Amino acid sequence: MAANIIVAGGGIGGLATALALALQGHRIELLEQAPAFTEIGAGVQLGPNATRRLLALGLGKPLAAIAAKPDALTVRSAASNAVLGRMPLGSAVEHRYRAPYYCVHRADLHALLLKAVRARKQVTLSTGARIVDVRRDDNFVCVASADARAWEGDALVGADGLWSLVRHQVIEADAPPRATGHMAWRATVAQQALPVALRCHGVEVWLGPRLHAVAYPVRGGRLLNVVVIAESIPTGDVRDWDQAGSLAALQQATGRSGAGLQALLEAMPAWRTWTLSDRPPLKSADQMASGRIALLGDAAHPMLPYLAQGAGMAIEDAVALAQALGSTDAAGVPQAFARYAAERWQRNARVQSRAQRNGTIFHATGPVRVGRDVAMRMLGKVLLDQPWLYKG
Ligand SMILES: Cc1cc2nc3c(=O)[nH]c(=O)nc-3n(C[C@H](O)[C@H](O)[C@H](O)COP(=O)(O)OP(=O)(O)OC[C@H]3O[C@@H](n4cnc5c(N)ncnc54)[C@H](O)[C@@H]3O)c2cc1C
Repeated sequence: MAANIIVAGGGIGGLATALALALQGHRIELLEQAPAFTEIGAGVQLGPNATRRLLALGLGKPLAAIAAKPDALTVRSAASNAVLGRMPLGSAVEHRYRAPYYCVHRADLHALLLKAVRARKQVTLSTGARIVDVRRDDNFVCVASADARAWEGDALVGADGLWSLVRHQVIEADAPPRATGHMAWRATVAQQALPVALRCHGVEVWLGPRLHAVAYPVRGGRLLNVVVIAESIPTGDVRDWDQAGSLAALQQATGRSGAGLQALLEAMPAWRTWTLSDRPPLKSADQMASGRIALLGDAAHPMLPYLAQGAGMAIEDAVALAQALGSTDAAGVPQAFARYAAERWQRNARVQSRAQRNGTIFHATGPVRVGRDVAMRMLGKVLLDQPWLYKG
């Protein structure tokens, strides 16, 4: 038995969903608005909670081939470069959580998922399919695209990201995403192009007042990904996404960092910027699924990247959705979606709240900053580990 399922959006969440559902035998129509499947040129950290699911989807070997396996997470002061706390990753994490901690290039992860999806004959992929209309009744869902095509299915999964259109079908009178006033500056560089002292083999984090920076290797360690997230920058259009940036503009906003971080920032060949928006956590399971429509990934729970788990939660959602559906047929979809939402909404809400709290701690000033640094020096390994998250 199987259902015909429309997946809106071909990002990491939509592709993981198509793969997980196809492995259960369902037939999938995946609709992506962009003219071609692409991902932006930046990195993504995958905690063991996410990699465990990707391994279960049969992606262990190709994932290991594209990933970098950082040896440790090291937190430093952005001003002095002094180490505040450290947590071993590598085999220590893999042993403890039965799955590795990986850092990957988003385009590599996206391409890997796309290849796996393309190999499943039950999945049909359509690009240039921007969904503009959704109709449903008790027995089916129908969507139409801007170029006047239409698809009908037993179910619709909204994996259409932060500005989700499908979300309006599940949550009535929903407010738009909120501008956080935080901006991300991202760059990648070949490690070989860097002086040896600036190359990173682990996840390096620098904490400063109202900003933090993260650097980690991707693409088997050959590239270095650097992100600076800073507050109180005029945001312009909150839909600004992947704009050209410059070090001069970054430093106008944040000031110069201490010498260690500054040298790394100056070594980056080019910067891109992202205006960060989020939404408050969902308040109940029925905000995540309604009848034959379910939300997944950023469409349901967009979060600030301060726990590096947005893509991880989308991957967790995908596997949970496929498990809830099992081999159910069309008739069983609403009950299966209700089970999926009941299982997922609270964990996602917790991760969203923790990400926001991390931002406050990472960017602290004054006495809070002093207390944070003391705590990090004394208890760094314990504070940086997240068993509740990585074991889930
Ligand atoms: C600076 C930064 C750093 C991050 N770092 C990490 C990290 O280290 N680890 C981590 O796990 N997460 C991280 N994240 C979060 C992560 O990037 C997102 O949570 C994740 O990519 C969400 O995937 P998604 O598939 O739900 O949504 P998206 O990636 O937004 O995909 C949605 C897709 O739907 C398509 N679409 C939209 N509307 C329509 C429509 N109407 N019709 C058809 N298609 C449509 C879009 O074109 C897009 O392809 C980070 C985010 C940022 C901003």
